[in-house]
Amino acid sequence: MRRPVLKKHYCTDVNETLVGKKVELFGWVQIKREHGGVVFIDLRDRSGIVQLVFNEQYNRESFKIAAELKSEYVIRAFGEVRLRENPNPNIPTGKLEIWIEEVTVLNQSKTPPIGVIKQEEISEELRLRYRYIDLRREEMRNNIIMRHRIVNSIYSYLYKNGYLNVETPFLTKSTPEGARDFLVPSRLNKGKFYALPQSPQIFKQLLMISGFEKYFQIVKCFRDEDLRADRQPEFTQVDIEASFIEEGDIYKLVDGMFKAILEDCYGKTLNLPLLKLTYDQALELYGTDRPDLRIPHKIMNLELLIQRKPVEMVRKGFNEGKKLFGIFVPQSDKISRKVLDRWAASSKSEDVQLFTWLKSAPGSPTGPMVKLFDTDIERDLSVLKKGPLDEVTILLAAFGEKNPVLTFLGKLRTEIGGASVDKKRFEFCWITDFPLFEWSEEEGRIVSVHHPFTSPKIEHLDLLQKEPLAVKSKSYDLVLNGVELGGGSIRIHQSNLQEQIFAILGLNRDEWEKKFGFLLEALQYGAPPHGGIAFGLDRIVMILQEEESIRDVIPFPKTTSGTSPLSGAPDTISDKQLSELGLRML
Ligand code: ASP
Repeated sequence: MRRPVLKKHYCTDVNETLVGKKVELFGWVQIKREHGGVVFIDLRDRSGIVQLVFNEQYNRESFKIAAELKSEYVIRAFGEVRLRENPNPNIPTGKLEIWIEEVTVLNQSKTPPIGVIKQEEISEELRLRYRYIDLRREEMRNNIIMRHRIVNSIYSYLYKNGYLNVETPFLTKSTPEGARDFLVPSRLNKGKFYALPQSPQIFKQLLMISGFEKYFQIVKCFRDEDLRADRQPEFTQVDIEASFIEEGDIYKLVDGMFKAILEDCYGKTLNLPLLKLTYDQALELYGTDRPDLRIPHKIMNLELLIQRKPVEMVRKGFNEGKKLFGIFVPQSDKISRKVLDRWAASSKSEDVQLFTWLKSAPGSPTGPMVKLFDTDIERDLSVLKKGPLDEVTILLAAFGEKNPVLTFLGKLRTEIGGASVDKKRFEFCWITDFPLFEWSEEEGRIVSVHHPFTSPKIEHLDLLQKEPLAVKSKSYDLVLNGVELGGGSIRIHQSNLQEQIFAILGLNRDEWEKKFGFLLEALQYGAPPHGGIAFGLDRIVMILQEEESIRDVIPFPKTTSGTSPLSGAPDTISDKQLSELGLRML
């Protein structure tokens, strides 16, 4: 083998400055085309592809080897860079080709069970079974490389801001994120189990008590939940905690982090500060705490209509505190009668007392809503709409208890506008001031909206006992295009307040002592005020890469039933292993 003239290049390093020079490349045969005395091969490596030319006249020996090459063979190729006669404008190296003087087959390949070039309708099961081939596809390779770049950008931004990267244990105790734990039996302590962390929550708080002041970690977390499309049993969190801060410090830090990611990885600018909405505002305007702000429609309070002599049922409802909200939509949104009937039917199962609508026609609106009022409501509606009710407007309205009405309209809003959103637009918003608690029908008790270490708003402290569900918290979520990217809070740093919260949550002393006693104890040894946030890295990458599934941005994900078709995990274990662990199968 002749010595290379230039050191190894990636395929897409081949550019016009190298014309006439010799290069040595390593990679996979992507496509082979034969034309008489010439064989063309697209050689692929992690950077992309470049065309190799095996010309019988130019180098007979290489030409002969080329005839044997098949898709996905691994080769070394050495030759001269030349300009192509027929450039291909669709690839970065499309103006160039390499005339091969030496070729070595480094390994053969069986015919791949899934295509590397075009992904025809191949089942995800098969893609995951042969993930190492699936990852050779350009789109997947690009997702994984961009994931690396995003992580890199986060690391350098947080380092620049003085954050220390500190590890926390994987074999630990239950953490309070509300999902089921993955458990690991302890061989040395038979009958006892470690829990894999649902998040590093308690340890990052302990690190604040230790005095590290600014912590971060990009770390795997584990939650044993029923899987949904955007969930994985193990996922990666960007976990952050800092001392001596308030909510505003977190907003500023995180705003800057996303600005850096977009600039570093996508060359996009992000205007700061990012929008902030309180939880109550988000619910009233968009019917959800995860609004997709690319959808222009907003919900409006139609309370003004109370003065227009509503029918008895509505009047009575208003008196009982029920609410009337609506969304104005242009007729161009093409809402058919059939859709309106479907919404009317679904409103019943969503605890909405009445779903109604009107269509404005010049001079007089039509539709069932008009009949709910004794007098003309057109003028009021144009006041609410801040413009005339021309023939292009449809008003969708729902009446009943406030929260179900808003949630229902929020869903209509997403259905109407969701399909036409621009995937390339990024609309971030902070949702702040969540309620501290909510009522859980399932558990029949009050539960934390975030987790029990979240601090109440100081001005709401006196409501804690009297009216706990009215207490707002120092908590925040960051939402991007209708998806929650992450959330966090300022924490409770005084043990007596923390104990009070556990009591309100109905946890008895023995229970919390056993679960979180070590944090409670630590809070008594000089805990600084602190707070933090955590983001789902997989989701961040999924949205920025305009993918629909987080599985497409994770190298080796699990299926929706939590299995790995590639490795066969989870698997049974031998009787010997079971007995070493002191376990018996039922
Ligand atoms: N530990 C929380 C979570 O994993 C986030 C936080 O409060 O920092 O959702």
